[in-house]
Amino acid sequence: MLYNIDFSISALVINLILIFCFYYRKNIPNIQNKVFLCLLWTSLIITVFDILGSVTPSYPDKFSLWINNTVTYMYFITINFLTVIYTFYIITITDTQGRLFKTWRGLLFIVPAVIIALVIILNSSLRWIFYFDENSIYHRGIGVYFLYAIAAYYLIFGIVYAIIYKDIISTPKRLALYSFAVLSAIPVFIQVFIPNLLLSTFGISICMFLVFVTIQKPEEVLDSHTKLFNRNALLTMLAINFRNKKSFTAISVSIDDFEYFKRTFGVTMMNIILKSLADRLTSLSSKNKQLYYLDNGQFVIVISERKKLDEFTARIKQLFESKVGNKQMEINLDTSICIVLCPQDADTIDGLMDFVEMKDRPLKLDQSIYYASQLVKSHRNRILEVERAVENAFNNDSFQVYYQPIYSTVSNKINSAEALVRLHDANLGNITPGEFIPITEKNGSIIRLGAIVFRKVCEFIASNDLKALGLEYIEVNLSVAQCMQKKLAEQLLETLQEFNIPTEYINLEITETAAAYSPEALTINMNELSASGVKFSLDDYGTGFSNITRMINLPFDLVKLDMEIISDMGNERTYIALENTVSMLHQLKIGIVAEGVETLEQMQSLTKMGCDYLQGYYFSKPVPAEQFLQFITEFVGETKIDNNI
Ligand code: C2E
Ligand code: CA
Ligand code: CA
Repeated sequence: MLYNIDFSISALVINLILIFCFYYRKNIPNIQNKVFLCLLWTSLIITVFDILGSVTPSYPDKFSLWINNTVTYMYFITINFLTVIYTFYIITITDTQGRLFKTWRGLLFIVPAVIIALVIILNSSLRWIFYFDENSIYHRGIGVYFLYAIAAYYLIFGIVYAIIYKDIISTPKRLALYSFAVLSAIPVFIQVFIPNLLLSTFGISICMFLVFVTIQKPEEVLDSHTKLFNRNALLTMLAINFRNKKSFTAISVSIDDFEYFKRTFGVTMMNIILKSLADRLTSLSSKNKQLYYLDNGQFVIVISERKKLDEFTARIKQLFESKVGNKQMEINLDTSICIVLCPQDADTIDGLMDFVEMKDRPLKLDQSIYYASQLVKSHRNRILEVERAVENAFNNDSFQVYYQPIYSTVSNKINSAEALVRLHDANLGNITPGEFIPITEKNGSIIRLGAIVFRKVCEFIASNDLKALGLEYIEVNLSVAQCMQKKLAEQLLETLQEFNIPTEYINLEITETAAAYSPEALTINMNELSASGVKFSLDDYGTGFSNITRMINLPFDLVKLDMEIISDMGNERTYIALENTVSMLHQLKIGIVAEGVETLEQMQSLTKMGCDYLQGYYFSKPVPAEQFLQFITEFVGETKIDNNI
């Protein structure tokens, strides 16, 4: 019989291209990839023997019987073991091979493979699969069908396995895996009708191609700049490790103030820096380490060892903190390193990612290397409890707004107040805004909270005659997240209109960090609000990176000196710095509020220095609206401050 080998030739080409592509790109050196490479080579070898097998028997005079025999044997061995390797490949995708072969279930995989081997070996005497007669004519035996049955068994084994582990293997990937069963079965049927058409190797190569593009996609797992594995790869690896209850250590390394560096040096420079950090990490010797880069200056190193962790992390820290950059510019970076022992410290992806992304990092943690176990579990529970309390307060409309008077040194009167939100929970008691505001910023509910506070302030203004009380405006805090909202100005102006409140009754406080983020949205919002008459204060001045040029260019009416500086003004150097800051701001025609004024001395020095407004416990703590109203009515007649100067 003369065979049509056109499809086999195509299969040969596809196989060669796939093997070339596999070697050309970067692959994780894991067992899954090794088995896939083995599949590609097996598929290539089958194709070669399939072509040879269809050619040699046609020329019995040219090829001796033993060549025909060898070629046919090789074909049977490779094609039968291909299904075995393929099923093993599915097992390695779930990384459960170790577990499988430790139990009796492993026999379900091994025994049929041994039977295949025996049947093929014994064929030389039993002639159960094939034989060549004395005229070198090829004959098939009944054993071929037996081998088909075993192949079908392996295919079903693989499909069932993929279904059991469907949480690890996504649906498109499973479909690509199932295609093997279809693509290898169809040619068998077609060959029943067109026996001389060699199709099976073509089907196999198409299946390899599908697996290559759906499961073995490198761009899905690699970060394009650092060439380390990306977040996707980390999540996949974690799903496998947690599913298989493996113990491992994840070390998260994050560059402090990464956003600041990116803004200052630009993305291109940061990419150079990240690449050189990635190279340094790659050169770090450790058994079985996997390196990931997750964006935002965040690296994760996963290792299986537990020994000498302190030494290892100290080396990582050193690598990161020695100078990086190029010839023109070198910088020093600070890093925070968190060591998470899994599954003890975290046994879910979310649990681990919380540590990795430092969501659970205690606010005041001085160390730069710490174990996740140090971040006490109760801390995490507390966050959940506070989130619940916030949700309850939303549902019951129980957020309250307190007012803290602000004193004018010029008029010797209370001329304004800062609105500060308060949360009281039936179970947790009073929760400070310092605790719950950052939590609402992380979970996004700050937008809703900000709108509620603003409304409550508007209600307060609408139901009182501010002018008659001697109040010029109420200061309302805005969070970074609010400032970045495109519709902020529109929404605030709408609320003011709804309550029929003149815009000049509102002064919005924006922190230095929010201003330093410098998103365009903030500038647009500020310009629009300021044009409508709303005033602005720069809050917490002197705590972060003070970007003076930026500040001058934004329409700030007031600057609020942070209470940290005020509390330290007994220190001579702080005092000098403060004096100069006040004089500089005055020259810029910006009003000055000193926050956290607690003592008579502070009040006197700050007044003498020329601060326009003072705020602090010396005058009053933040209090509910009625108490605040009472306070100002009583305060008006007081002259003690004047006398004290
Ligand atoms: P902040 O804007 O710097 O507010 C001043 C904080 O200092 C208030 O803390 C106030 O009670 C406290 N304070 C005032 N005078 C003194 C003093 O003499 N000594 C001391 N030790 N503290 C004083 P509070 O109310 O706990 O608020 C903390 C932070 O929470 C605020 O800092 C602000 O950033 C944020 N916050 C409060 N209410 C809101 C709000 O409605 N929206 C937003 N986005 N943030 C808010
Ligand atoms: Ca404030
Ligand atoms: Ca402040």
